[in-house]
Amino acid sequence: MDARDSIESPAMTETNPDPQTSPQAGATAGPAISVATKSPAAGLRGRRDVGTVELQGLHAYYGSNHAVRGVDLGFAADQVTAIIGPSGCGKSTMVRCINRMHEEIDGARAEGHVLLDGLDLYDSRIDIVAVRRAVGMVFQKPNPFPTMSVFDNVVSGLRLSGASRSEMDDRGREALIGAGLWDEVKDRLKGPGVGLSGGQQQRLCIARALAVEPEVLLMDEPCSALDPVATLKIEELIGELKQRVTIVIVTHNMQQAARVADTTVFMLDGELVEVGPTDKLFTTPDDERTEQYVTGKFG
Ligand code: ADP
Repeated sequence: MDARDSIESPAMTETNPDPQTSPQAGATAGPAISVATKSPAAGLRGRRDVGTVELQGLHAYYGSNHAVRGVDLGFAADQVTAIIGPSGCGKSTMVRCINRMHEEIDGARAEGHVLLDGLDLYDSRIDIVAVRRAVGMVFQKPNPFPTMSVFDNVVSGLRLSGASRSEMDDRGREALIGAGLWDEVKDRLKGPGVGLSGGQQQRLCIARALAVEPEVLLMDEPCSALDPVATLKIEELIGELKQRVTIVIVTHNMQQAARVADTTVFMLDGELVEVGPTDKLFTTPDDERTEQYVTGKFG
């Protein structure tokens, strides 16, 4: 199945339960084009051939602040791509354009194209809710729903899409296993999600994102609120998850990029300076500005 295949509503009505991605815009659109996700349980069956993302001439603005300036960039399926660069260079903004979250901010707009498996997510007929189902997101600070149990957090997106009880049980469990959390929470599934440690909460948010079977998982500084042990767990998890989702991770931590990413992208002042295999970018970059940044001469 690729992104051109339609999937039926009401599965479209709730996709990413993160409050920050509340998809009101998509609810009113009456979409003509839907974005597919994988069929349930397709996740761990070996290599995928879907989940390729391509940015074409992407610009993003906050009012007159031109935060992303004409980025052309591809993200390969089965890969982890890290975005690095000094604070304020546009990393988060660029990533938020991929699931059309950027435009939810007052005064913000984006121009250009984001293709998911060739489908333009900025086509005027696209279902924005479906975009956010296909492109999940995890944030810097874990944000489980405070009133929900561990399990209800994980299946919140599925419940709103009308999944049956047994489907929620199966996919919820699978998502918790996929997020490396099952063994730690299987005896406290009915306990509050916010009762978990910070690192567990972040993996709970990853499980919540995985439960709706996204093609792409955006991670915006997912470890910056975590201690080193919890960080290590998330980094190990990222290595496993790339088998099932395309991962784009924003990080200010160059060691982390070097540890987890196949490909690294260096941005500066809203522009893409260089993209390449992580080893190369850190050891023999082509651009002098990359070399200066990775050797700590600025930023
Ligand atoms: P990075 O992730 O690399 O730190 P950002 O994408 O957060 O960079 O920011 C890029 C630019 O956009 C900066 O000039 C920043 O001040 C601006 N910016 C980011 N978020 C907002 C916002 N919500 N409203 C207005 N300007 C913003």
